[in-house]
Amino acid sequence: RSKDLGRNTFHYYNSSMNSDALERMQLLEDLRTALKDDELYVEYQPIVLLETGKIIGAEALVRWQHPKRGLIRPDIFIPLAEKSGLIVDIGAWVLERACRDISGLQSKYFPEFRVAVNVSTIQLKRDDFKKRVKKILADVPISPNSLELEITESELLSDSPEFDESVEQLKLMGISLAIDDFGTGYSNLGYVQKIKVAKLKIDRSFVHGIEGNSDNQAIVRAVHNIADGLIMNTVAEGVENAEELLFLKELGITHGQGYLWSRPVSIKSLIRLLQDAA
Ligand code: C2E
Ligand code: MG
Ligand code: MG
Ligand code: MG
Repeated sequence: RSKDLGRNTFHYYNSSMNSDALERMQLLEDLRTALKDDELYVEYQPIVLLETGKIIGAEALVRWQHPKRGLIRPDIFIPLAEKSGLIVDIGAWVLERACRDISGLQSKYFPEFRVAVNVSTIQLKRDDFKKRVKKILADVPISPNSLELEITESELLSDSPEFDESVEQLKLMGISLAIDDFGTGYSNLGYVQKIKVAKLKIDRSFVHGIEGNSDNQAIVRAVHNIADGLIMNTVAEGVENAEELLFLKELGITHGQGYLWSRPVSIKSLIRLLQDAA
């Protein structure tokens, strides 16, 4: 059994582990070498201004091309990366990649273009996070003002002075912060008030089919009111059709992202998309 599971590695497991657990363990082992074996890459999904439809920036989304299993979605491997701590290196790599790609795009074509990068609270809790970000910004010619970090809470955030310190430092550096998937998971209002981000991203579960769902309408309206009152922007995630768009505009949502405009694409395709729109 262990022979067909492994390559040259030992597997510490016992027969009581179910196949799911075994599979996760195997995947985690593969993830440990994915960075150095060049299996990760980044795609970009446009973020548009709802009023005009103009693309003002993009979100960087990591992908894993596994040599045997093919493409693996971040929803599968990011949780593994978070549990194992690999997210610290993976996250820093994504940030640097995104800064390099977008810095090129800015200098050649669109100087005002913005980029949003996802960061895990696990990264923010590390006291060397600020140093890593500073290093990237020193190496890559990109203005911190065009950089936005999207924070998703993957766990209930207990008091962490390191987290607070990271948030403070990032703001001082001129980087803006957003709360991702707002309204799901562990994000709560006390947290919004405490870290005072610039933007709330409304989770796509509330956006999907909003034109025909009065509960979701009420929720999105409420989130927008909160954001407005605290002088934050709102981005609707997962906008897929014109009916949803119309509704979101009527509610006063300022920014959107979704298949209606574009799926996540390579940096090359993003540049082409922007040139076509210009
Ligand atoms: P997210 O940050 O909320 O990103 C939005 C997700 O919604 C992306 O999934 C995107 O492809 C998908 N999406 C966008 N528009 C639509 C739409 O119109 N319809 C539908 N059905 N889906 C849409 P993706 O790329 O699979 O990423 C999933 C999650 O993985 C992200 O959710 C984020 O939480 C996490 N993730 C991705 N890259 C990174 C990263 O570099 N670091 C960290 N920590 N997490 C990441
Ligand atoms: Mg995000
Ligand atoms: Mg989200
Ligand atoms: Mg998410």
